[in-house]
Amino acid sequence: MTESQKKEKEKEKNDDLFQSALIPFRKAADLLGVHEELMNILLEPKRMIIVSIPVTMDDCTTKVFRGYRVQYNDMLGPTKGGIRYHPDVNIGEVKALAFWMTWKCIIADIPYGGAKGGISVNPKELSKAELERLSRAYVQALAPFIGPNRDIPAPDVYTNPEVMAWMTDEYQKIVGQPVFGAFTGKPVVFGGSKGRDIATALGGFYITEKAVDVFGITEKTAAIQGFGNAGMTMAHLLHEAGYSVVAVSDSKGGIYQKDGIDIPKLIEHKKKTGSVAGFPGTKKITSREVLEQDAAILVPAALENQITEENADRVKAKLVVELANGPTTPEASEILFKKGIHVLPDILANSGGVTVSYFEWVQNQMGYYWSEEEVREKLKEKMLSAFDNVNNAANLFKTDMRTGAYIHALQKLIEVLKYKGFTATCTIPGKMEQKWFLNSHGK
Ligand code: NAD
Repeated sequence: MTESQKKEKEKEKNDDLFQSALIPFRKAADLLGVHEELMNILLEPKRMIIVSIPVTMDDCTTKVFRGYRVQYNDMLGPTKGGIRYHPDVNIGEVKALAFWMTWKCIIADIPYGGAKGGISVNPKELSKAELERLSRAYVQALAPFIGPNRDIPAPDVYTNPEVMAWMTDEYQKIVGQPVFGAFTGKPVVFGGSKGRDIATALGGFYITEKAVDVFGITEKTAAIQGFGNAGMTMAHLLHEAGYSVVAVSDSKGGIYQKDGIDIPKLIEHKKKTGSVAGFPGTKKITSREVLEQDAAILVPAALENQITEENADRVKAKLVVELANGPTTPEASEILFKKGIHVLPDILANSGGVTVSYFEWVQNQMGYYWSEEEVREKLKEKMLSAFDNVNNAANLFKTDMRTGAYIHALQKLIEVLKYKGFTATCTIPGKMEQKWFLNSHGK
């Protein structure tokens, strides 16, 4: 076994992120009084796939990459979730991300289950041709398990519309049909939806505006960690809406300017230099320091585990909008709640991406495409309704919005499960039905 294969094996033992993802979920289930046997089903993914992907590199050597796909739960429809290219990708991370997708789709009120995929790779070290071969090989390995009515991947960290186009093309060659609904997040000219590129941030922006109103936040300042698809678009939307964005960062570092950063110029700078770092007229800070700046709205839009027990006390924001998946640990969530900081949790805040992915899939199935205005209007309606459902559940159970989000999602899933299978296999009258009703201590 090579050194890199040993490292991959080591990473596969790591289940920490998934275990920590379960903490607020269990809290919600306890408050609701969810039956233990139902919990046993929900605490396990339906299917986990690990594939090894040999790819011929430009120098004609062959490298073997490790790819993952977890299909967590398909009780409500085909599974859905992005594909991440990152050196730290491992099965525990993908499992946690697929778990979050399951609940996110229910909260967004779209007819999907949750999934996620990834490849352990540093895409910055590969040429474009190597990336294309890797992406196509990933689809070859997973083709029997995906499809428009089975499992529908989309972009995530360091994957983009072009990668989705390569993957769709490869899938179409394998099945011998022009099936566009097998992937979402495609380029608009290749079966994509207008508005998908900005959907995650735009969805987050709609509910940020709503939260600012509901929670009475008057100061218009923001700090954003991560300056990719989600973070850069959010910076632009906030800037356009009159917010002063005082701090941002990407993987190469952070910048601060107390009077607000000129975001359109910063986007140009990032396009030219590949980073926000070194933008003229700003002070250099670390990416972690972005989280602690004096700004009313904090948007983590990079990776997991950024707000932790160690730094949560130093967060000064009044509202945290989690565009990233899992940026706040459960311990940190408790600290923020006690400090009275409102958190729009990832499974609500970044659900605009999967919502417009769903719109893309609907348009692919119909073969009829909507205008960007129609997409925006439908997205806004879904996001505002999701916000209300989550906020109402949190208020009713006197808890934080993350727990409220899980409570709302669990109530809805249980409602559906009452009408689904399972009961016919048990002959004791009433015994199976008990499972779909909440225990007496639930509200
Ligand atoms: P992206 O690849 O477009 O951008 C990622 C950004 O994070 C880059 O700017 C990168 O430089 C930065 N980054 C990486 N490591 C960092 C670090 N240590 N500190 C600061 N910045 C760092 O990815 P994206 O699509 O914008 O995804 C960002 C987050 O949003 C992820 O958690 C992803 O799961 C989540 N998300 C994205 C979508 C979507 O539609 N794009 C949907 C839902 C959730």
